[in-house]
Amino acid sequence: MSTSKVRTIAVLTSGGDAPGMNAAVRAVVRMALHHGLQVYGIRNGWQGAVEGGQAIAALDWWSVGGILQKGGTLLGTARSQEFRSREGRRKAAVHLYRHGIDGLVVIGGDGSLTGARILAEEWPDLLREAATAGEIPLPADARPTLAVVGLPGSIDNDTYGTDMSIGADTALHRIVEAADQLVSTASAHQRTFVLEVMGRHCGYLALAGGLASGAHWIIIPEEELKPRWHQEMVASLRRGREAGRKHAIVIQAEGARHPDGLPLSAATVSDILTRQLGAETRVTVLGHVQRGGAPSAYDRILATRLGAAAVEDLMRYGADLPPRFLGIINNEVHSTPLVEVVEKSQAVARCIDAGDYETALTLRGPSFRDQLSLLRLLTEVAPKEDTHAGAILVVTAGHDAPGMNACVRVVTRVACDHGYRVLGAQYGLEGLLRGDLIELAWMSVSGWAARGGSELGAGRYLLQPGDLDRLAGVLQNHAITAMILIGGMDAYQNAEVMAAHVQRYPALQIPVLVVPASINNNLPGTDFAIGADTALNNIIAAIDKVKDTAGANKRAYVIEVMGYDCGYLALMAALASGAEQVYLPEEGVSLSRLAADAERLRRDFQAGKRLAILIYNERASPAYTTEMIRRILDAEGDDLFDVRSVTLGHVQRGGSPSPFDRILAARLGKAAVETLLTAAGQAGFRTIGLRGKHIVTTDLSEAMAEIAWPAERPHQAWFMALRDLARIL
Ligand code: ADP
Repeated sequence: MSTSKVRTIAVLTSGGDAPGMNAAVRAVVRMALHHGLQVYGIRNGWQGAVEGGQAIAALDWWSVGGILQKGGTLLGTARSQEFRSREGRRKAAVHLYRHGIDGLVVIGGDGSLTGARILAEEWPDLLREAATAGEIPLPADARPTLAVVGLPGSIDNDTYGTDMSIGADTALHRIVEAADQLVSTASAHQRTFVLEVMGRHCGYLALAGGLASGAHWIIIPEEELKPRWHQEMVASLRRGREAGRKHAIVIQAEGARHPDGLPLSAATVSDILTRQLGAETRVTVLGHVQRGGAPSAYDRILATRLGAAAVEDLMRYGADLPPRFLGIINNEVHSTPLVEVVEKSQAVARCIDAGDYETALTLRGPSFRDQLSLLRLLTEVAPKEDTHAGAILVVTAGHDAPGMNACVRVVTRVACDHGYRVLGAQYGLEGLLRGDLIELAWMSVSGWAARGGSELGAGRYLLQPGDLDRLAGVLQNHAITAMILIGGMDAYQNAEVMAAHVQRYPALQIPVLVVPASINNNLPGTDFAIGADTALNNIIAAIDKVKDTAGANKRAYVIEVMGYDCGYLALMAALASGAEQVYLPEEGVSLSRLAADAERLRRDFQAGKRLAILIYNERASPAYTTEMIRRILDAEGDDLFDVRSVTLGHVQRGGSPSPFDRILAARLGKAAVETLLTAAGQAGFRTIGLRGKHIVTTDLSEAMAEIAWPAERPHQAWFMALRDLARIL
């Protein structure tokens, strides 16, 4: 492309491997080819650059096919001692230069990124030295440049300049799966488990893993342990046992330290628990399991977005800008100078080494601290005294969504902590109308973080004006002073019905908050709804399996996914699975599009493709249904390929909630109670949601307006900006 500032780029993965690196490499390669650039893959990180030869090879479109669902990195990664020396970097520069490489994408942790920064800085001198030594011809440019973009590839999530690094979400999946399994064996045996997770200088995995799995104590490097920390831990776990908890889980980051700064091993923690708590304690060190397995949906999408953005950035700015780093902040790609990223990432480690824990925590950002205090609150066993602050009613309304229980758990505990009574309606609004309420106490929600569905029971029901007398009666009888509705569109519509009649019913003149929970992710006032991430992971796991069944026949699969009138699940599943086509309700389906799609499939299968995945949202078109599309494409496939259809159905809402959904549920649940507290005594209907990484509340009427005029729903459709990316890749 003539306007591009780079012509030939290379990509490498370096340092510890992280699931999702493949998706980033794939996006870099395909985006580059799409724009007419030449692209090389460098094997084994910086070591491959130093060695040259076979380690640097041109990549084509198909060389990165079928790798999205694979963990690790197809390019390989290695630590390179040689690259740390100037001599080693000169060799690397010579090899890159000989291939005409003028742009480089480096995916790795702060060590790998430091290497990238130094190489870019030394580039002109290294080339001059090499030319003087006769290794390469003198570059035509007096000051040749190498454009560099770094991307965060590290399961530890310890890189500054991004909210999440590639691999961290998958590692959380592995941690939460392990913790869930330990709980299931521990419950039977009254055991205590110490689970050691990765993070030499970073407590992210321990903290987020602890929050998501409902761990009972965590130990992280950023927090200074008091001299008598073990007594506090033992006392807290003992209170839990006395309150009826059947097991306990302690999650510890590998970089945990004694108060004196020396390493604190999981074995030591286990010894303390065995001796002081008298508990049967087992240590599980997760180790490399955390890097293993198929990357999560989030990591595939994050890596894809960053990989594509890296190529666009190189094309736009080349070496006009100093080396930079692309990360995701507030759900948007964000560029930061590489020097700053490396400096600030390493600063946390230095602070911890120096015992300056306060600065280390501050550098991790405010949401890290918030989540830490939430975890501390949730692991406490004794709620504050019932101060008769009031009674909060919790209802899970509409279809159940994975993560609803995690939300009820946090709502209950945070409310109890503020001295509120908490009541739950059984079976949603219908149960509420029957007065079917149960008391929720601190320990009655124990273990709920991991459970799918809704323990309270949910169900679809739309309030009729005639129901309101009864509803008001129930609220009055139980002296309800605030209400939290957790659910999908049903919850919002029911809140609207209540809001419309608030004048007539004093019992409804209370603060009411709607928390978004729906796998469809089609709710107003938020970018993400609780449950959508789990559904997405369920979908891509199913598609991975469908891909595995591909046998001798050339075949296309039309896979129907949920989403109602929202293409979120379909589009994200397409991005995360590398689907050939996606049919969205936002776009509809036409006969001419199907003809073009059939033509394309014919071309691809003729060229050697063996399997194609087409994703169809359940409401993409009233006329061209899944079965109809299957038949049309099958007929067009002649002898070249056949077409099958798969409707995933309720599998999508099943299973245990994903870590992201559990953490989202916890954050929204906490914020919901806190919002009610500030609004105490004032009537009002509001929604709560996540915009970027910030929790926001919106008046219900304002939020509902987003739905009334779809054309003016800029926030609703944030994910549609990724439509082109799916098309290109
Ligand atoms: P990570 O990228 O995960 O932090 P490492 O710290 O092991 O992993 O770094 C990976 C590689 O990056 C190292 O093996 C080395 O080749 C290169 N590297 C790290 N630090 C430097 C440095 N200061 N100068 C040059 N290269 C470096």
